Amino acid sequence: MDFFTIKKCFNCPNRVVDLDKLESTLRRVMADRRFNARLGARVNTSRPMHHQMFHVALAGCPNSCSQPQIKDFGVQGQARPEVGTGCDKCGACAAACPEGAITMDDAGAIINRAACLNCGQCARACPNGAMRVSQTGYRVLAGGKLGRHPRLATEILPLAGDEQVAGALERCVELFLKEGRPGERFGSVLERNLNSLLSVSSNK
Ligand code: SF4
Ligand code: SF4
Ligand code: SF4
Repeated sequence: MDFFTIKKCFNCPNRVVDLDKLESTLRRVMADRRFNARLGARVNTSRPMHHQMFHVALAGCPNSCSQPQIKDFGVQGQARPEVGTGCDKCGACAAACPEGAITMDDAGAIINRAACLNCGQCARACPNGAMRVSQTGYRVLAGGKLGRHPRLATEILPLAGDEQVAGALERCVELFLKEGRPGERFGSVLERNLNSLLSVSSNK
């Protein structure tokens, strides 16, 4: 039996990343770390309860249907838009943006980076290929949970590639196995070790 779960969205037109490939990579991390055997020895049961396990959620876009914000480790697919050449100021991208993050001026579309969630919908709406995706990847979150003391996950990487996500999961899993107490959720472990995890993640 697995002592972890990986939940991901199904095929969906909003998906901006390859979650199947990422899931394979993350399952390899859990196998390499011998997660099942090590956590099984700590909780001392072959039938763990939900709160004794480690939960991972993969979301194909910022809509986050698989709820990475309340999982021990999660990702949100990201598609960073950029305005290239050929904009005829039609306004389709601004109309498509759920965040109101695009305005128009005499030169064409302008993206407000502070408001943009990197969902990629503006690029899909552009009829001229002027609004395009310049980079895809994952926003990485850790330490979310519900239960008696709910906690929304902390962002540990803003826009990571597959191998960076794998490295982040390795660090989180090692922290959980080495510092966690039996039955303790990762969010509580993270609260005690947040600075060290964030400083390592930002250097990778
Ligand atoms: S998170 Fe995005 S890609 Fe995944 S199911 Fe929801 S809308 Fe679709
Ligand atoms: S990526 Fe999404 S949030 Fe960002 S500007 Fe485009 S539609 Fe708006
Ligand atoms: S949809 Fe494309 S062509 Fe129309 S305003 Fe936006 S970037 Fe320009």
